[in-house]
Amino acid sequence: MRDANPFVEWVVKVAQPCNLACDHCYVYELRDRTWQRKPSAMATATADRLAARIAEHARRHALRRVRVTLHGGEPLIAGPARIEHLLSVLRQELRGTADCDISVQSNATLLNPQWMELFRRHGVSVGVSLDGGREANDRHRRARNGRSSYDAVRRGLELLRRPENKALFAGLLCTIDISSPPLEVFESLLGHAPPAVNFLLPHATWEHPPPGHDPDRTPYANWLLAVFERWYTAPRQETRIRLFEDLMDLALGGDVRSESVGLAETDFLVVESDGTIELSDSLKATRDGAAATGLDIFAHDFDAVARHPVVADARRGGLSALADVCRDCEVVRLCGGGVRAHRFHPRTGFANPSVYCADLRVLTTRIRDRVVADAADLLGTAS
Ligand code: SF4
Repeated sequence: MRDANPFVEWVVKVAQPCNLACDHCYVYELRDRTWQRKPSAMATATADRLAARIAEHARRHALRRVRVTLHGGEPLIAGPARIEHLLSVLRQELRGTADCDISVQSNATLLNPQWMELFRRHGVSVGVSLDGGREANDRHRRARNGRSSYDAVRRGLELLRRPENKALFAGLLCTIDISSPPLEVFESLLGHAPPAVNFLLPHATWEHPPPGHDPDRTPYANWLLAVFERWYTAPRQETRIRLFEDLMDLALGGDVRSESVGLAETDFLVVESDGTIELSDSLKATRDGAAATGLDIFAHDFDAVARHPVVADARRGGLSALADVCRDCEVVRLCGGGVRAHRFHPRTGFANPSVYCADLRVLTTRIRDRVVADAADLLGTAS
């Protein structure tokens, strides 16, 4: 049997709880309940084992660079002592083996100068989840007591934009709500001067379609294309948008590493606060326990994880992982059937096109046609 490709990224649940109660959160508000049985923060012994396992995997596969994303819940709830311990053991274990890009995905409400000092010392970049301006953000991203989170996030972002921290600002992650005007949302995000913005489709399945789902109107494609047009035609680049850049690369024949588009194999794993190993969090939108593998970092190295049939099946890339209708689709190389979780139907499992199929078809076709035509014009001008 061919050896499975190595993993290069680990999403680490350093804390399970969150101080917000976002209604679109795929960890707490959808089908999965496994978080209720996990420790609220990762113990130092678990962090030690995780760092040793990642270094072991990097050595075996001669990886020169790995990525670790600190995630939650809200990762900062783990507290500075636990986070600093994990950062130190990661650097220590990987020294001389591989470079380690470490980032934290936070709601930014708990960021303070002490956190930023720690992140500067360990070179940790910070990505912030924000859904737009005050109104758009507070429609979904509220505190447990129902109060607005916007001012706390804004304070966190102001801290991140200070000259001494600016280099650590990784960007903003925005979950789309089609009832918020796309350009208003985008302009609000740009107001924080993010180096990058990424847009997420709300997690949904054929059993639980997204709000406003309508294949005849493709509301998600329309929303994204409004932003694309504004971004693509701006006189100078204001920020990077990963989804669009990935689709443009794919349209021009490139390969991208993405869970959302393209045909690449999945190259990341999730490690929970108790050391159990899970598949992508997005699968939590499908059913309780859907992301679980039954494996953990104490008993299993990451090669054993890669060989496990559940993991091998879930991370499979290429056409063979897709439904017949996707394999025959004109834009399959760009769309890739979308996020795996979005293909789920309780009767047929994942052997379906995405619940966003109509939107993805319009989005990918328009972006492809636009960039291919512009590339042809450029080549024509140059020759
Ligand atoms: S557009 Fe639809 S049919 Fe085509 S690859 Fe994407 S999900 Fe599959």
